[in-house]
Amino acid sequence: MAVMRQHQNPTAESRWVWSVGKIAGIPTGVHASFVLLLGWIAYRAVSSGGSLWVVVASLAFTLAVFASVLMHEFGHALVARHFGIATDSIMLYPLGGVARLLGTPSTSRAELWIAVAGPAVNVLLAGVSFGFYWAWIGAAGIPWLSNFAGAFIYANIALAVFNMLPAFPMDGGRVLRAVLRRRRGLLPATEIAVVVGKAFAVFFALIGLFSNPMLVFIAPFVWIAGNRELTQVRWHYAQATGRRKDVSRMPRPDSRSGPQLRRP
Ligand SMILES: [Zn+2]
Repeated sequence: MAVMRQHQNPTAESRWVWSVGKIAGIPTGVHASFVLLLGWIAYRAVSSGGSLWVVVASLAFTLAVFASVLMHEFGHALVARHFGIATDSIMLYPLGGVARLLGTPSTSRAELWIAVAGPAVNVLLAGVSFGFYWAWIGAAGIPWLSNFAGAFIYANIALAVFNMLPAFPMDGGRVLRAVLRRRRGLLPATEIAVVVGKAFAVFFALIGLFSNPMLVFIAPFVWIAGNRELTQVRWHYAQATGRRKDVSRMPRPDSRSGPQLRRP
């Protein structure tokens, strides 16, 4: 899941968002299309001959994974708050979550910690679950609980690893930018991170065609959201350095257009 910046206005998509209220003071919502995901999970369980119990277990597992995604986003938001950056909202989509931070971290150190906080939550969840598994669930001899716990641990490790790929604006890409930023400054670091991110987007699309179709959907988000963020950084950079002519020639960044990115 990704962290989006500079999103300050309610969007046209609002009508498709179901608010679940404020959590830790942050407006939190679920996109209506999430129901399609649950419907698809249930359909798959039924069409493969699963009993009602299998359908319920599949839905419960999906909700448990998305609860992990939500906690991942709160990891970003709460560490961002520690560094003085507020969060406009946290949203869950079928492809993942998005924490919309109101600002870019002013230091590479802040950017690094904010980016790492999300995957760290998944590592923590996997670790705690493994602790339960080792101490109790494994010995209890309840097959469905063992399977559920094992799959939950695997899903959280996968979430942490996938998000740490250096595919800007995913978390690993932000870590890459934070490291580059120390020596090169924000704009050159962003330019390099976006190029690396686009290479990953192409890679995701290609392997997605032959394996996980979700990657095919994630690829354009990585490409478009990276481009959009680069436009924002260039615009603010030109403004800050007083290059007004450059600013007037640039497309004004519009955080409301285009898809929102996230991670699965
Ligand atoms: Zn994240």
